[in-house]
Amino acid sequence: MKGGDMADKTLFQKIADGDIPSEMLYEDDVCFAIRDINPQAPVHFLVIPRRPIPTLNHLEKADEDLVGHLFTVAAKLAMEEELTDGYRTVFNCGRHGQQTVNHLHLHVLGGRQLKWPPG
Ligand code: AMP
Repeated sequence: MKGGDMADKTLFQKIADGDIPSEMLYEDDVCFAIRDINPQAPVHFLVIPRRPIPTLNHLEKADEDLVGHLFTVAAKLAMEEELTDGYRTVFNCGRHGQQTVNHLHLHVLGGRQLKWPPG
């Protein structure tokens, strides 16, 4: 790898490329899913597009199929994780949304009774 390339990658690109270890739950050409390193529920995983779209605000019309795919993968994995009593999907966006990694990712949380509204 050429100097600088590594620094240009997002955290989630580094995980997808195997530069940083993670528990990979699912992979296809469009997205992948990993367990969150700091789980906020008994089951907490992230569904992540391979393309490093920074935030929800960077989505374009042409990305609508991609976003739909993230949700169908999330639902399939939620059933594999036996979240039959329900679960929550979340895209954090920007500072007030407490997004910390600028590479779009769909959180899936479950395995306990979640509260509403969130903090
Ligand atoms: P957000 O705050 O919405 O941007 O979510 C980023 C998520 O990435 C957080 O829930 C972090 O715990 C999670 N995270 C950070 N580093 C890693 C990692 N190396 N492997 C898995 N999840 C991570």
